[in-house]
Amino acid sequence: MEYSAPRGTQDITPDESGIWQYLEATVRETMARCGYGEIRTPIFEHTEVFERGVGTTTDIVEKEMYTFRDRGDRSITLRPEGTAPVIRAYVEHRMAARPQPAKMYYIGPMFRYERPQAGRFRQFHQFGMEVVGVPGPAADAEVIATPLEVFRALGIRDVVVNLNSIGCPVCRGAYREALRQVYQPVLAELCPSCQGRYDRNPLRLLDCKSEQCRASVPEPPPIFGYLCPECASHFAELRLLLDGLGIEYVINSRLVRGLDYYTRTTFEYNVGGIGSQDAIGGGGRYDGLVEQFGGQSVPGVGVACGMERCVLAMKAEADDSRFARGITVYLVSLGDAARAKAFELAFDLRAHGISADFDMIGRGLKAQMRYADKLSARYVAIIGDDELERGAVALKDMASGSQQDVPIAQLATQLLNNR
Ligand SMILES: [Zn+2]
Ligand SMILES: [Zn+2]
Repeated sequence: MEYSAPRGTQDITPDESGIWQYLEATVRETMARCGYGEIRTPIFEHTEVFERGVGTTTDIVEKEMYTFRDRGDRSITLRPEGTAPVIRAYVEHRMAARPQPAKMYYIGPMFRYERPQAGRFRQFHQFGMEVVGVPGPAADAEVIATPLEVFRALGIRDVVVNLNSIGCPVCRGAYREALRQVYQPVLAELCPSCQGRYDRNPLRLLDCKSEQCRASVPEPPPIFGYLCPECASHFAELRLLLDGLGIEYVINSRLVRGLDYYTRTTFEYNVGGIGSQDAIGGGGRYDGLVEQFGGQSVPGVGVACGMERCVLAMKAEADDSRFARGITVYLVSLGDAARAKAFELAFDLRAHGISADFDMIGRGLKAQMRYADKLSARYVAIIGDDELERGAVALKDMASGSQQDVPIAQLATQLLNNR
């Protein structure tokens, strides 16, 4: 019997994890530089957190959650996204009583029961950030701009920002009505999901991906004519801030995002070269969400980015050898006495902060050299009976091929100097 990882999941093996570590380190470094602290919430939550926080009319809650009863008969859900847990934690830990804004980021796995395809998994990873406590558009601009810094540092180019406003509870009602009027004559031709959305959440009609709906639906009026003065000026100020940073964006009035909690700003990043799933992240403002969780009325805005898609884009745009693991020195030993010396020497070098490895299997010279090459060792130190007698190693620079004798007592110092 041979087992495989469940459908929609993948192992990240040591050959692959270098690129992931590079990505995670870049996220952490960027977030720290921008004043964000990491928050780690549980992998699972009470199901109500997502029903309440994400919304019961969303695809996520309707059909994509991993929900089960635990042994205490509680309904538990593996987190399908990061914002609802962070806001649950914000309220639970009374963060509103601390200096605002609360600026938090997270990195970790999320779970959605979806049809797996290129760049889409059932266990996938996101990094995201949330700013809670800022009503004005400076927070929106910061959460839009910061992942762009991450993408740039990763070498992911040609990221297009799509931007929209979906208004607030004050002005959205009129727009919902306008949408219903546009869709009413073609209601019978809409896909089954959209027939349900027509009553419950007509905004979602705008981003239906089905061919059927794309073909039969007339172009809806953009929301901008319906925004209240506050929403309109929020959007205008956000655009000025993005312009000031030199960030280019495309106004996309169909961009409503699939989550119920958004108010005003919504945005998405698209990148070419990673196939049909070209959205690499997105987010928006959620001014009513803290209240939904029983907190005071505190505004918030956030973003989440798909890390599998970042990895795809990193591989598409750059030579991925720069993410490979490498060691500084591999100790090639010939004979039992030399092997014992290599073992001690490896630990001595490691104690000096030098990455070092040695032959554990007792292979011949050629096989050890091949293995050192596979490890991308910068140097090979050869120890045979001769070298043991002289108390030295033959140190070979793998890039240049040059070789010199180095006394064992000076090996660590020399390798540190060569760095
Ligand atoms: Zn409004
Ligand atoms: Zn549809």
